[in-house]
Amino acid sequence: MITGKEVSLKELSSAFFERIDKVDDKTCAFVTVSKDYAFKRIDVLSKERSENPLYGIPLAVKDNICTKGIKTTCSSKILEDFIPPYESTVTEKLLNAGYVLLGKTNLDEFAMGSSTESSAFRITKNPWSPDRTPGGSSGGSAAAVAADECIAALGSDTGGSIRQPASYCGVVGLKPTYGRVSRYGLVAFASSLDQIGPITKNVRDSALLLQVISGHDKRDSTSALESLPDFTGSLTGDIKGVKFGIPEEYFTEGIDSEVKECVKNAVKKIESLGAEIVEINLPHTEYAVATYYILATSEASSNLARYDGVKYGLRVSGKELSDMYLNTRARGFGTEVKRRIMLGTYALSSGYYDAYYKKAQQARTLFIKDFKEAFKKVDIIITPTTPDTAFKIGEKTEDPLLMYLNDICTLSVNLAGVPAISIPCGFDSAGMPVGLQIIGNYFAEDRILNAAYAYEQSVEWSKRRPAI
Ligand code: GLN
Repeated sequence: MITGKEVSLKELSSAFFERIDKVDDKTCAFVTVSKDYAFKRIDVLSKERSENPLYGIPLAVKDNICTKGIKTTCSSKILEDFIPPYESTVTEKLLNAGYVLLGKTNLDEFAMGSSTESSAFRITKNPWSPDRTPGGSSGGSAAAVAADECIAALGSDTGGSIRQPASYCGVVGLKPTYGRVSRYGLVAFASSLDQIGPITKNVRDSALLLQVISGHDKRDSTSALESLPDFTGSLTGDIKGVKFGIPEEYFTEGIDSEVKECVKNAVKKIESLGAEIVEINLPHTEYAVATYYILATSEASSNLARYDGVKYGLRVSGKELSDMYLNTRARGFGTEVKRRIMLGTYALSSGYYDAYYKKAQQARTLFIKDFKEAFKKVDIIITPTTPDTAFKIGEKTEDPLLMYLNDICTLSVNLAGVPAISIPCGFDSAGMPVGLQIIGNYFAEDRILNAAYAYEQSVEWSKRRPAI
């Protein structure tokens, strides 16, 4: 419509700002809405027409990704007034492609959580049912996409934070291979696991966004040199003869029966499209929660040491310099972040390091081995994205372990560093969306996107929208 001049850039973004005005009080998806910034940008963009598919496209960005001149809070009091002096690589690439930033979306503080309830500012609601969480930590991005408050959004995924909220909100969420997308400007939580990725309404948009944000970046030493396939070009919808592995460990007792049912139906559908279904094993799956929560908290305790009131962010003064550190951190961090700093500090401390951190690092190699073995037999792996559908707000906040266990289906993917996408595969009897996780080998995003596309085209799930 932009290319055909049926709609102007201003009209398009204005429509989304109107939508945000109308529904964001209900979803609480945004932390910052950047209307003035967007219209200034549109004035510039309108003068330089472009053929780029993202030209003039209004997107939202998770509030742990630095945007120059626009507040980036990580939904934490410690960064409540932080305005980054630089642009993250992903948003710089989006700017070059001509996108329009609508605003920054809510998250669990510092991306630590699975429900967006630990934001210091507001609790995001699931657009399908206001008494349920949208998942997390990219709950704001997933809810904004599902409620039509933006065309698509960026999230970040350390242990499931793109895929789980996408699953809970009935949208598409992709976590790329570790290293595929630059982390420069993503506020670090657990650096060896963090990846940025797209949350979209359909698979094609996911491929389109991934194309723009991917690629080597010398400002992130862990970004990969791998060449970029044509992600949208790989969407043929043909999966004949492709081998799909179904790991036994993901269909056990802890998985809700309605979720299992939807995933099994999806497997049947995929088989009917000409794919071959193979039963496989990922034997170390049961250790994913323990391994992840030691590594992620250890890295977090180290990464979050930088918030001390000295260079940027909140400063609460005190008598001595050390009082200032203590007061700032005591006031600035919320309960879950403090819990993780303590867990991580403990796991890294002398005397415990070998028993916890080192052991978890050793265990991590087993997840890599599990996937390497599996990908000798199959091209793609299918699992549920989550063990249940969106839970009620407040249901798990009193019991952190229960919250951590909710991540069981997504964590091994981050530990191994492989890519995975979540797409809608049905609804439970309460009308809540169910997600299908499609996992690929290293740098095989093109393959999982095509598998997701083939399935998406053969079903109607994406057409159902929340009534909000
Ligand atoms: N839910 C997981 C956690 O709490 C994952 C978070 C994430 O991927 N950022 O750590």
